Amino acid sequence: MNPDLLINIARLKEAGLDLELQLGKDWFARWQAEDPDLEFAGPGSLTVQVHLERLGHEILVRGHLQGNLNLLCSRCLIRFDYPVQSDFDLLLAPESEYLTEEEEELSPADLDRDFYTGETVNLESILREQVLLTLPLKPLCAEACKGLCPRCGADLNQEPCRCPREASTSPFVTQKNIKS
Ligand SMILES: [Zn+2]
Ligand SMILES: [Zn+2]
Repeated sequence: MNPDLLINIARLKEAGLDLELQLGKDWFARWQAEDPDLEFAGPGSLTVQVHLERLGHEILVRGHLQGNLNLLCSRCLIRFDYPVQSDFDLLLAPESEYLTEEEEELSPADLDRDFYTGETVNLESILREQVLLTLPLKPLCAEACKGLCPRCGADLNQEPCRCPREASTSPFVTQKNIKS
């Protein structure tokens, strides 16, 4: 946990608090170490501007992410830099007010809520969640990426492969050949 990302709410004065953070290799490496299943798992470099402000009991967190994530192309399996630019706006409720006994079973609507616990806002988990939200479902190094040949594994962006043409290796054709 990066201590800079645990914000004591006592620091939020009238005008709020503005932070600019750099999330680099170390930040991504620590995340990966804590969460080995992390799919995108590449080093990234993000600049984050965050504004925190009290709104009654709740805390407004407004942020802007900009930079690059290093993703794996889902077609050709090459790593590429994926530019990220996104804004987020969250309202954090104090956790104690919501986790009363009657509310142990959270309804789906409640699950969308974000919380802060005690006297701190955990920007680490908020930023991880925001980074995950920026990930494309199917990362592509380029819209027109041709991917890999499913048979020989050749990178079809680099060269056409030498596999036999589709028709001659189709299992139907083969069967027919055996029978005749
Ligand atoms: Zn690709
Ligand atoms: Zn091939």
